Amino acid sequence: MNAKNILVVEDEASIAEVVSLYLKRAGFAVQIASDGKQAMGMIERQMPDFVVLDLMLPEVDGLSLTRWLRDRSNVPIIMLTARREEIDRIAGLEMGADDYVVKPFSPQELVSRVRAVMRRLGREQDAAENERPLSFDGLSIDPKSRVVTVKGSPVELTVKEFDMLYLLARHPKQVFTREQLLERIWGGALYIDPSTVTVHVRRLREKIEEDASKPARLLTVWGVGYKFEP
Ligand code: CA
Repeated sequence: MNAKNILVVEDEASIAEVVSLYLKRAGFAVQIASDGKQAMGMIERQMPDFVVLDLMLPEVDGLSLTRWLRDRSNVPIIMLTARREEIDRIAGLEMGADDYVVKPFSPQELVSRVRAVMRRLGREQDAAENERPLSFDGLSIDPKSRVVTVKGSPVELTVKEFDMLYLLARHPKQVFTREQLLERIWGGALYIDPSTVTVHVRRLREKIEEDASKPARLLTVWGVGYKFEP
């Protein structure tokens, strides 16, 4: 997977540098714009995956830039603000920024906020996708009614079995590790044993596969995890 590309718009070079350093260390690709106008040029060339935006900027200020960005894109935005800029902060959020961090801040806190916004937006996207019914040869999955049919006959799945089948089927041929499935289906709960995943896959196979001992849908990728074969 390519690193997420973050644009940092900040006129104070020392802040821009330390923020950039921490974000790079956290695995992101970072570009810096030192004023609003430069940021617009960079965004027009290529939309970043995330924007960290100082409110007080020369040329085009942070609020105008937020408004300009929102006319074009839903790219996540975190604003950097000084404590005295509270009114602007509220305006920024109303204009569609996703979160803000008040200066002075620790760079590590900013990294955590960036990750939190990414997680939150990722979940919202997943939730939107959750509405989409899926249909394969002899297997249909309807997330709204949570009904699964095999060759036209409904099968009863537990909540977790359904969630796992739907997650795998929504990403055909993509391999999920046990850890990823635990994270996505059980929310990474520490008390859940990784073998729980194995047990659920086995039960799912008994319910949806023609021959559970020779699965054609839920395939084991040895040493890695599981994938759905459409
Ligand atoms: Ca500034």
